[in-house]
Amino acid sequence: MTLVGSPLSGRSLLGTVEPAQKPANQLRWSRFLAATTAEGPGLRAALWVQGCSVHCPGCFNPQLWAEIGGSVEDPSALADRFVAEALAAGVQGITLLGGEPFDQAAALATIAEAFRGAGLSVMTFSGYTLELLTEWSATRPDLARLLDATDLLIDGPYLRDRPDAGRPWLGSTNQGIRALTPVYAEEVARIERDGEPDRLEIRIHRDGRIDVNGWADDAALEALLHDLGPRQDRPGTKARLV
Ligand code: SF4
Repeated sequence: MTLVGSPLSGRSLLGTVEPAQKPANQLRWSRFLAATTAEGPGLRAALWVQGCSVHCPGCFNPQLWAEIGGSVEDPSALADRFVAEALAAGVQGITLLGGEPFDQAAALATIAEAFRGAGLSVMTFSGYTLELLTEWSATRPDLARLLDATDLLIDGPYLRDRPDAGRPWLGSTNQGIRALTPVYAEEVARIERDGEPDRLEIRIHRDGRIDVNGWADDAALEALLHDLGPRQDRPGTKARLV
């Protein structure tokens, strides 16, 4: 018997419940950026979905947990729009994050497959581990589709008592950077061997709005945002901004 999450195993129970299957013809999403350098290798588009059932304590994006809010649209139409914007921006791929991408696997697979079809790569974040996603995929074609369309997977729940300062994009040492295809295999091996610092990206809009995304430790973030108004994220040892 596997004692997942028991005191004997020392493992977290977060992200161990198979997500419910959602409709394939609608995606609830929060934000899309056509080009960023803070959410994966190189210049990438990024799509934040709305809704997460994992609920990691200390999550950097609790505003993206609720399955209300955001926009609900046909993923095929969204895919056409996002691919066109991403190609115009000259990116190498898209990053799917949130929220929990595998909670809306079928709809997101449509987006991921469209990017693959355009010759672009796909990176996906998940609070579920690759091992569980693979196990559930045996009876869940929607999960299997999104896994199959993913080149690079960041997997596992965020555990705030295990901050990771040595690798980019993720938050805690239990999380993995998994090359599911050869596209980023060398880059993943280099990061695991040499480490790489976090990246933070700041956008100042003409109307005065300031968007920040990527990761930073709390002290650096406080110093950076000192004169820029109140923070929208929750304090923690490390914070991810969207
Ligand atoms: S860290 Fe990710 S998986 Fe965990 S609650 Fe937040 S959005 Fe969900």
